[in-house]
Amino acid sequence: MNSKVFDLYSFTREELSNYIEMGHFKSVIIPTGSTEQHLDHLAVNMDIEMSRYIATKSAGELYPNTLITSPISIGIAEHHMYFPGTISAKPGSWLSIIFDLIESILRHGIKKILILNGHGGNVAPIQGVLEQWQLNLISTQNPLVKSNLSSDIKDHYQYVDAVLNDKKNDVDIRFNSYWDYIPENLANSILETKEYPGHAAEFETSLAMYAIPYVVRFNKVYSSNEIGIKKASFEKGRQLASEAIRGTITTVKDMLDENN
Ligand SMILES: [Zn+2]
Repeated sequence: MNSKVFDLYSFTREELSNYIEMGHFKSVIIPTGSTEQHLDHLAVNMDIEMSRYIATKSAGELYPNTLITSPISIGIAEHHMYFPGTISAKPGSWLSIIFDLIESILRHGIKKILILNGHGGNVAPIQGVLEQWQLNLISTQNPLVKSNLSSDIKDHYQYVDAVLNDKKNDVDIRFNSYWDYIPENLANSILETKEYPGHAAEFETSLAMYAIPYVVRFNKVYSSNEIGIKKASFEKGRQLASEAIRGTITTVKDMLDENN
């Protein structure tokens, strides 16, 4: 299956509304990453290309249930700004775009949304707001949410639990970095440096060699004296990528209630 078939931005409005009406595309994956320096052997689009790769392969397996949105290729990368090629969003700007993207998707009737991240600098800011977003969007997308709640809610803790666990709620928004899906013991058995996700080292370089070789400058990999770069391999990348894809598929199926 050609990857274009489930990229949101490759459809016309008529095609999309027909597919959504037919019950296709009940979920979306939003690939997020960064545009930032990755030493001299990987291109600056490493992080976004990797999350897009995992999202695309997963959506291929989940077809026609899952659509991929426009990739968010700029991330929070102030800490890489010393090096040319890095483009950084401020945390507030970045979070605003992601929130607006989620809200737009919800307004088109797609309620299962996985943000699939490929850049470490995005993790803490989004984890800091995710529950607030969930509460806000569940309530604003389901006007009946308040009437579903039991009348003996006494404090805001009970309110939060009740909204997040409301069985009638069908809005499900999750965030994971693709490496979250690779169990630690497996990563440790594959990676000689035991370091992951790391930055432009054995983990990312292996994945890039296997999955997105167009970002790799192989001459720089083979001539490097850095242990993390020297230990990278296509085969390690293959094993790591397949685990990340497997975890992504399981998560989306769980959101769609299709794991049983
Ligand atoms: Zn990276």
